[in-house]
Amino acid sequence: RLRPGDTHVVATVEEVRPMTSDPFSPLLERARAHALAHLADQPDRHVGARGTRVELDAALRTPLPMRGEDSSAVIDLLAAQAAQGVVASGSPRYFGFVIGGTHPVALAADWLSSAWDQNAGIHATSPLSAVIEAVAADWILELFDLPHESAVGFVTGCQMANFTCLAAARHAVLRRVGWDVEADGLQGAPRIHVVTSAESHVTIDVALRYLGIGTRALHRVPSDAQGRMRADSLRELVATLEGPIIVCAQAGNVNTGSFDPLRRIAETCAAHGAWLHVDGAFGLWARASRSRAALADGIELADSWATDAHKWLNVPYDCGFAIVRHADDHRAAMTSAAAYLIQTKGEERDAVDWVPEFSRRARGIPVYATLRALGRNGVEKLVDNCCERASQMARLLAAHAGVQVLNEVVLNQVLVRFSDDDEMTRAVIKGVQDEGTCWLSGTIWHGQAAMRISVSNRATSEEDAARSASAILRVFDSLSEPDWRSRPGQAVDV
Ligand SMILES: *Cc1c(COP(=O)(O)O)cnc(C)c1O
Repeated sequence: RLRPGDTHVVATVEEVRPMTSDPFSPLLERARAHALAHLADQPDRHVGARGTRVELDAALRTPLPMRGEDSSAVIDLLAAQAAQGVVASGSPRYFGFVIGGTHPVALAADWLSSAWDQNAGIHATSPLSAVIEAVAADWILELFDLPHESAVGFVTGCQMANFTCLAAARHAVLRRVGWDVEADGLQGAPRIHVVTSAESHVTIDVALRYLGIGTRALHRVPSDAQGRMRADSLRELVATLEGPIIVCAQAGNVNTGSFDPLRRIAETCAAHGAWLHVDGAFGLWARASRSRAALADGIELADSWATDAHKWLNVPYDCGFAIVRHADDHRAAMTSAAAYLIQTKGEERDAVDWVPEFSRRARGIPVYATLRALGRNGVEKLVDNCCERASQMARLLAAHAGVQVLNEVVLNQVLVRFSDDDEMTRAVIKGVQDEGTCWLSGTIWHGQAAMRISVSNRATSEEDAARSASAILRVFDSLSEPDWRSRPGQAVDV
């Protein structure tokens, strides 16, 4: 029997001997060798994928085999394509989008979860997953200093977290005016006013589409120069609205890393009975850092929060959290019940009550492992290090003539423009992608092309940041020679 504190309930690794007819060992050993080779190679390899679609297609496409092929050969074939088709997104010098690396303990725990093949849908299908999610949920609320009565759903990412939270919001604001949206849908329902900002993430729009609210009638409050919702404009707008209101604010703008003025927004929402949802895909993690938490001041006053774990906690894809202060609204929007399910009506945690998925993987297990291995201090260090490396790169780049940093670097995001010129900026991005020391992508910020650097991997060191900044400046210098525009292959769309 398990006793509290028992850790060595399983045999040590040396004691686990493969069964003679075990079909798993040879394949898993092979996969492990390929995985370790990739991980060892990753810090030094070209950060981008090298193969084109045509090359990958040629390597992979065959008619659907009539007879199955040898499993080991299939694993080897996959591994052989890694250098061509796999982006080194775990590289300490991968700064594209907001991706995050993978902590070793997260990967190891993820492998175990896959080996266990747990269906995390209900307590009966995986008591381990149910209990681990409950514990990890408490830790997450503590880490972010959010109301401890909140419910947490473990979803695939922030898209589904936004969807889940806004489903709870839709339920709540309509319930308050006597409408049961779960039973009656939206046909004939009172109109809901949804307010977002000019800078809200596209996944908010998508979630509203899924929810039958659509995007045409959204109220979009203007944003300031850093992409922050203007709290005064919100206040004026909300005062003119009648009926149910949902406000979607943001912690961590995907370009600048800026935060909406959450305390002032929350005050407006409270004064008008509006539901406040915050998209904090990566920004919510600022709450885990004493030096950055002030950016998200007032966030605890919201009704719901969406965030990712696969970005800044550095767990493998896919993993995010939907957090809702009002557990009853959250459950009402998500719960499923069926006669054949063994559900426990609240005695145990049934994950189907908190997420859109029915069957799903036990993504809480790597979350638990990572939080336990890092601890509060480790998460803070991870966040602070990324922010410091972003500032370092901004400093190094801005010191160079002709290079402009467009945003206030408050978090882990940096926007850079070269020669104040769209074409040059795009050419530098393409040049850096081809050169391979680091990888990053571009964006349009206030109508101008910009390079976008996101530091969200625990492994990025001071040296990685310095090496990457030098590589970027080298590419810029090589392009700054007078004739660069006429050279073949330089003017490119990124
Ligand atoms: C990444 C991101 C999302 C979407 O998250 P996914 O995990 O890709 O679903 C939503 N909002 C913001 C601000 C993001 O950065």
